[in-house]
Amino acid sequence: MKDLKPKIQHPKNATKFKREVTMPEIKNREDKSASENAKALKHVFKSKMKSMREEKWKNKALHGQYPKILEKPHYISPHVDTVTTNKWLSSNFKGETEGLLVAAQDQAINTRNYQKVICGQQVESKCRLCSQHEETVDHIVSGCEVLAKTEYISRHNNAAAYLHWSICKDHDIEIADKWYEHEPETVIHNKDNNITIMWDMPVNTDRTITANRPDIIVKDSVNSTCKLIDMTVPSDRNIALKETEKKCKYKDLELEIQRMWHMKTVVIPVVVGALGTVKKGMVENIKKVSERASMTEIQKICMLGSARILRKVLSV
Ligand SMILES: [Zn+2]
Repeated sequence: MKDLKPKIQHPKNATKFKREVTMPEIKNREDKSASENAKALKHVFKSKMKSMREEKWKNKALHGQYPKILEKPHYISPHVDTVTTNKWLSSNFKGETEGLLVAAQDQAINTRNYQKVICGQQVESKCRLCSQHEETVDHIVSGCEVLAKTEYISRHNNAAAYLHWSICKDHDIEIADKWYEHEPETVIHNKDNNITIMWDMPVNTDRTITANRPDIIVKDSVNSTCKLIDMTVPSDRNIALKETEKKCKYKDLELEIQRMWHMKTVVIPVVVGALGTVKKGMVENIKKVSERASMTEIQKICMLGSARILRKVLSV
């Protein structure tokens, strides 16, 4: 029986390809047969199509944002501790929570902005709580003024309480067994080792200093050292900026304490992105705060807080 399939592709397809794919003019090589030349052309077409598809995917408005953020060289990527950042995936999150967080990192969550921009729906894309900004994942987990007063504070306090609990344990202070049962006292003093731990307490200074209240202060009178510890959970894009900001913010207090108490004083910012991005150097900072504190545990506390916030807002 005769083969009825046309040997040459339909010209309509060829025209469509030509329209979509800008191809360099390819000359047929005289030393090759017609079918070899056709094959070579097909190969060039194919690889061109592949790179176009990849480009299209990357540029899709929101999908793949998280990998994009991590790979942006001028953005935060040089500051990100990728190994530590990815550790949360091996902690025991509930499947559903893990799924939610991965989707959040990919900005693939049904926020109003997502409905409008990605799904093309005719909906209001401003935040359902503040009505001020586009309702994106980033906005919900770290940028909404309405949530700042309540939800962000409680997420921050949980992470800071874990640090406080770890410090108390380090210095043999009797406290609850589990960090989440721990309620930090304003001032704790251990007479045996002359350690004072202050929680959210302003320091009285001779000259006026506005930023005089870091989350935790650890005063070691035996070694004459003082640590000013401040926890923050910003947008994942801002982790580097926030660390610098914190250092500057408490610089005056650092110098003043040094002068007043004659103690070697350091500011230790602890910064974790709302969706778990860990900045380079944070593992070292945590170790300076407490021998037993774990970066992954803090990351987990922050991420669970963000998951709770996302669920809450999306159900409004
Ligand atoms: Zn808002």
